[in-house]
Amino acid sequence: MIRLRRSANLKIKICKTCGKTLPITEFTEDTRNKDGVGANCKLCIKIANAIRYKNDKPRLNALSKQWRLNNINRHKASQSLKNHRLNGNITEITIDELTKLYDDAKYCPICGVKLKSNDNGKTHPIRTSPSIDRIDNEKTLTVNNVWILCHKCNSTKLDRTMKEFYDYCKGVTEKFKSEFEGA
Ligand SMILES: [Zn+2]
Ligand SMILES: [Zn+2]
Repeated sequence: MIRLRRSANLKIKICKTCGKTLPITEFTEDTRNKDGVGANCKLCIKIANAIRYKNDKPRLNALSKQWRLNNINRHKASQSLKNHRLNGNITEITIDELTKLYDDAKYCPICGVKLKSNDNGKTHPIRTSPSIDRIDNEKTLTVNNVWILCHKCNSTKLDRTMKEFYDYCKGVTEKFKSEFEGA
């Protein structure tokens, strides 16, 4: 709703940018102008904003990359939760809680490797990237039902329980014992 400050009977106006004569409803309110209406029509403003955004894109991208580098774990937490939800899982953990779990996790509890994220500002995981694993896959993702493994262990364990994973590793060990430990 445009409340005209002076020319209450102003019905049309010429846009300063496109030069078209347009109904007053095509302009936004601007109290800096005498007639209380902006000099440019809504469409011209929209186009100008889009051009400004496009020209500013490299700078905005650099800013968001820098933010990701400075907030690796928070970015990771937000991505993990998004992926879990996209996969149809219910998550009862906040980004703050998950960020803290990532911050506190120093070593993989299975293989003992020092956890370290990809530090190029991208989310693509590397072998040592910390990643969340549900302890009990039947239960929802809560702060008590999650632990942080290295990406390699997590992608090997998948949705096995720890007992199932143990049995799997034991099977592999027994099968290849003679080959790798000598007869
Ligand atoms: Zn215009
Ligand atoms: Zn590991």
